[in-house]
Amino acid sequence: MPELPEVEVVRRGIDRWATERSIAAVDVLYPRSVRRSPGGAGAIRAALVGDAFRCASRRGKYLWLPLSIGGDQALVVHLGMSGQVLMQSVDAADEKHLRVRVRFDDDQREMRFVDQRTFGGLYIDDVIEGVPSTIAHIARDPLDPQFDRDATIRAIRRKDTEIKRVLLDQSVISGIGNIYADESLWRSKVNGRRSSGSLSSSKVGEVIDQATVVMREALAQGGTSFDSLYVNVNGESGYFERSLDAYGREGEPCRRCGAPIRREAFMNRSSFRCPRCQRSPRTRRSPRT
Ligand SMILES: [Zn+2]
Repeated sequence: MPELPEVEVVRRGIDRWATERSIAAVDVLYPRSVRRSPGGAGAIRAALVGDAFRCASRRGKYLWLPLSIGGDQALVVHLGMSGQVLMQSVDAADEKHLRVRVRFDDDQREMRFVDQRTFGGLYIDDVIEGVPSTIAHIARDPLDPQFDRDATIRAIRRKDTEIKRVLLDQSVISGIGNIYADESLWRSKVNGRRSSGSLSSSKVGEVIDQATVVMREALAQGGTSFDSLYVNVNGESGYFERSLDAYGREGEPCRRCGAPIRREAFMNRSSFRCPRCQRSPRTRRSPRT
């Protein structure tokens, strides 16, 4: 799954290269990739051709391109597990997993949606108060200028369930995926299985701040890829991999205390933590009789 920094790199690339250009044609090469769009390929074509993308917007890991003329509609880009958006020369050979092509009137680079595993896709959605209707329930992410840190701390503590589970709950705080949840918990020395209600407000604030910092760092490192005309998403094994302190480091020494990082199953995924810096929550002893 691409995480917020990767999606933001894609957003910047699309914003820079694919907006304010009149759309000439939309080729849907694989109908499954537009299955979420009401009316399918024909309706996408009708909505986009002759219009232009006004900009590229993002909330958490969700990306959408509001239309210029049809201002109450947007093209939502759902990257899924393996989706990529490429800005390619019009005469470049088709990618093996090319699903949708958007051509522009100026005959300059075209936008291609490539998706090997086809969990992602494109669809037209109505924009309500600046957000597509299917994304309205997604909370703001910590990189959003309008992110409300205090309200998010309260919401996280109110959930009163394992802190890592709450960090991954997109309706409470968006954009933090498995990798950055593990990194922020390691940096804050919090075990992901601790109940969010048992953590102090300042500790929850620290976890949020560390998630923000680590995602900003990832973004800074990935920032070069959108200078080229080629916009890409690498998914989990991205450019930031070498800088991670917890995620993917099973058996390797903790960079703070030297204890071997442990991998555990959590929510059908892997969690990585330092067994010394992020101790397990104490199990309550049964009272003696
Ligand atoms: Zn440690």
